[in-house]
Amino acid sequence: MNNHSGAVLVLSGPSGAGKTSLIKKIADEIGEYYFSISTTTRPIRDGEVDGVHYHFVNEEEFKKDIAEDNFLEYAVVHGNHYGTSLKSVREALNAGKLVLFDIDVQGNTAVNSRLGDITTSVFITPPTLSKLKQRLLDRSTDTQEVMESRLKMAKREIQRISEYDYMIVNENLNEAAEVLKLIALSAKMKIPSEDINKFIQEWEDI
Ligand code: 5GP
Repeated sequence: MNNHSGAVLVLSGPSGAGKTSLIKKIADEIGEYYFSISTTTRPIRDGEVDGVHYHFVNEEEFKKDIAEDNFLEYAVVHGNHYGTSLKSVREALNAGKLVLFDIDVQGNTAVNSRLGDITTSVFITPPTLSKLKQRLLDRSTDTQEVMESRLKMAKREIQRISEYDYMIVNENLNEAAEVLKLIALSAKMKIPSEDINKFIQEWEDI
């Protein structure tokens, strides 16, 4: 029963919430996992690597992926297109891995409607809006305009926390990582209804 095919863990929350640092911190403690690399039309930032942080494409290539039904979900975030490739996610799930998604609230809705059976979702947030602003300022990778847009979006996204299974307030990185680790480990134990039915049939036959 513990060997059922993979599971999904959706992580959402404003940029600056600490999602990437948290994933790095728990990476060695949650078993085999696959971090879904999204495709995006947003310009590559300093320090980012194509194929590692995102697959960076132009609008035309993105539209081709949509037409060919290559996405599990896609959305416009801060004016750029983002999408989750179906193929690599399917492969990872078939290999029994935990698939991690860093996607926005629209993506969470879409993933839940297609893979709700095996999906656990977590919203990660800094303790307050002003702390988020401070973190973005410290990181200083954004123009004033982009930062304003991130804060505006954070205020909108926070209204939808109740759509998530869990919320982590990331005030202390070690404590938040410990909670995320527990959630990731239990996400792997989520049982799809298909497996439950199979188990009941086999159990009754014994
Ligand atoms: P950033 O440009 O800062 O890397 O990401 C901006 C936002 O886009 C984040 O909230 C992130 O979670 C979201 N995002 C990244 N990839 C995807 C995706 O494939 N689908 C959706 N729906 N959102 C994504």
